[in-house]
Amino acid sequence: MSPNNSMLQRLIYCLIISLAFVSFASASVEIKSDVVHYLLESDKTLQLEQLKKHLLAGDMKSTALKNLTFGINSKPVWLHFQVENHSDIVSTQLLVTAVSWVDYIDLYFENSHKQLVVLNAGDRVDGAPYTVPGIGIAFDLEFTPGINNVYIRAETVDSIIFPISLIQQQEKLDRFSGTYLYYGLIYGFLFSLVLINLMFYQILGNRVYLYYSLAVASFVFINVGYTGHGIYWFWSGSAEIQNFAVLAFLVVYSVLFLSFGRSFLEIDSARPKVAKAIKVYQVLGLVVISLALFYNDQLLVGLVAYSYLAVSALILLALGFVFINQIKEGRYFFIALICGMAGVIISDLTVVGVLPYTRVYFHSAEIGVTLEAAILALALTKNMKMRELLRLKSEKLACVDPLTSLDNRRSFNQSIASIMPDILEQDKNLCVIMLDVDKFKSINDSYGHLIGDQALQLIAKRIKQQLRQNDMAVRWGGEEILLVLPDINIADASLLADRIRDSIGREPFSIDEINLTITISLGLAELNGQQDIDELIYDADQALLKAKQSGRNKAVVY
Ligand code: GH3
Ligand code: MG
Ligand code: MG
Repeated sequence: MSPNNSMLQRLIYCLIISLAFVSFASASVEIKSDVVHYLLESDKTLQLEQLKKHLLAGDMKSTALKNLTFGINSKPVWLHFQVENHSDIVSTQLLVTAVSWVDYIDLYFENSHKQLVVLNAGDRVDGAPYTVPGIGIAFDLEFTPGINNVYIRAETVDSIIFPISLIQQQEKLDRFSGTYLYYGLIYGFLFSLVLINLMFYQILGNRVYLYYSLAVASFVFINVGYTGHGIYWFWSGSAEIQNFAVLAFLVVYSVLFLSFGRSFLEIDSARPKVAKAIKVYQVLGLVVISLALFYNDQLLVGLVAYSYLAVSALILLALGFVFINQIKEGRYFFIALICGMAGVIISDLTVVGVLPYTRVYFHSAEIGVTLEAAILALALTKNMKMRELLRLKSEKLACVDPLTSLDNRRSFNQSIASIMPDILEQDKNLCVIMLDVDKFKSINDSYGHLIGDQALQLIAKRIKQQLRQNDMAVRWGGEEILLVLPDINIADASLLADRIRDSIGREPFSIDEINLTITISLGLAELNGQQDIDELIYDADQALLKAKQSGRNKAVVY
């Protein structure tokens, strides 16, 4: 066996041993069975001693540890389960009990020596102690060797979810940093979308970016609220924000998203009646949630918020469905909506207890919305790119002569202004040719203006074929064309002039079965002491006049 192989083998042994050690360590303290006892309080609040009697009498029901979800507006719930410490030393572990939005969590922890610890948590308790953002309400407990009893009482208007789990001290850091990383990425991404879209709005003035930015911002607010980040970092003193504002923002989010939908799908202009109906629905949402807030009834606020969110989602889906083909990015809108809504619905169903609690289900809202945001950002960028292309196209169109596709004077002015200072300063070569079709009037007279037009097009085409990349051909007047030729001396320009003249005169133009023999006259001038381009063009004009006067179909150098 080669030394390398034995190294590898040793490494594998090490790995197996450490894995075994880790699994042994994790098995030393564990929840005793997969089944826990629970009891819903009737109208009277129970004390621990009374609950213990119920437990002894067998009044508590049992259910799977994995499925501890009690829907919205449930009666207060008692849980009981045992944690066994198989080792012979005290072991501190983090016990995750409930999601962070539960109003009151009372933990009664009785270790194997029957010593009782009572801890009170929940977002209605001052400072919301024991809230671990992104993880839930969790307590560090010292499990003594043997059987430890855990009793939990939970009370809330929202739904109650118990993602019960034990996290060892070694694992805690991994879990925490993993959670921070996850939310850091999600919030970082969403937050930059908020800023970028605000900037787009500021620069481009299109409201669609504003609505989108605000909608994403309100989603972040909601998410920060129900994951416990808000109460931990920002509003630990205020149960009102936690229990009312976060719920009410579900309506704000829906209203903003509807505005975004209206704007993105251009419904206001395309379907004013539909737009008006949506606006009425939006105002209605804001009025109803304000009333619910005014009555200070958390259950009412919750019911209004959840149902408004659900109905808005359906409306948006319907709009996406109807407009999918009417607008270029309709497809993106639709796919994005499906992602976001599927995520939000799965999370909602998990929260209200229809789906079993799993981390993926629970987090699918933020995953879905992040995906949705990414797709919509892509659509908005595509939209922007299209506008830019249109702008470039129209700008280009504004610089081109529509009949001949030669540059027009406007484009000539722009281009010459950018190259002329350099040419003058560095004393570079520059020649111009003024070119005019001979007796063009007679072509019009004999065959009509349309044939004349087509002849001009073909003449322009033949001329362009003779030019280099950097040469400029400008439609100067009716049948007058100006050529601007950088980096060429007058001798070479003369050769070029003859080639152009030959390309026009050598072969007749055949238009609508008419064969037209056409000639052109050219006047050349070289940059040599002239102050500016106008003087140079004037000289070329003089040369052209000479060419005309001395019999046409020739090139004359100034
Ligand atoms: P020469 O330049 O050789 O002296 O004679 P010419 O007949 O070409 O000169 P003139 O300047 O008298 O006439 C130019 C004619 O070109 C007059 C006008 O009808 C025609 N022309 C100018 N622009 C267009 C155009 O865009 N389409 C057509 N069909 N004809 C045009
Ligand atoms: Mg002419
Ligand atoms: Mg003319």
